[in-house]
Amino acid sequence: MMSKSKSKVAIVRLLIIKCIFGSQIMTLEETCENAIEIYQKYIEANGQRKTPERIAILREIYSLDGHFDADGLHKRMIDKKYMVSKATIYNSIEHLLICKLIRKHQFNDKYASYERCLESNQHDHIIIDGTGEVLEFCDPRIQQIKSTIEDIFGLEVTGHSLYFYAKKKD
Ligand SMILES: [Zn+2]
Repeated sequence: MMSKSKSKVAIVRLLIIKCIFGSQIMTLEETCENAIEIYQKYIEANGQRKTPERIAILREIYSLDGHFDADGLHKRMIDKKYMVSKATIYNSIEHLLICKLIRKHQFNDKYASYERCLESNQHDHIIIDGTGEVLEFCDPRIQQIKSTIEDIFGLEVTGHSLYFYAKKKD
């Protein structure tokens, strides 16, 4: 888990129900390799420079379990002796968002958080008032709501955003 030093974001997995995408469950390494392939195609198609740092950043993200922010990711890369600038981190994050390899969250008003999303378990978030604690949950009923919306409105739901804000009971 990564967070800014002054902000403690504890990630607790309350309930994890494996949401299987396709017919097989990928290992984390396979998922990472798939992500790299998607990213490389994007880099080539957009005339970007193919640098080892970009791939290293993606590998680092796909080795993380949970949420991260740009500064925390930068620190991890520096700790691993990759001399990447913060600009490179921000730039990579922008590209990975476009590629839909990471998802962006705004859990607080100070900085954005991100998490990998290729082949990841579908889940949503509860943000605890005051502490900044973020809980994750997975409830299959959300998938049922999507299916119902698709049937009733004749649409294909392409994504959703759901945050619960809560306070601890005394
Ligand atoms: Zn999450």
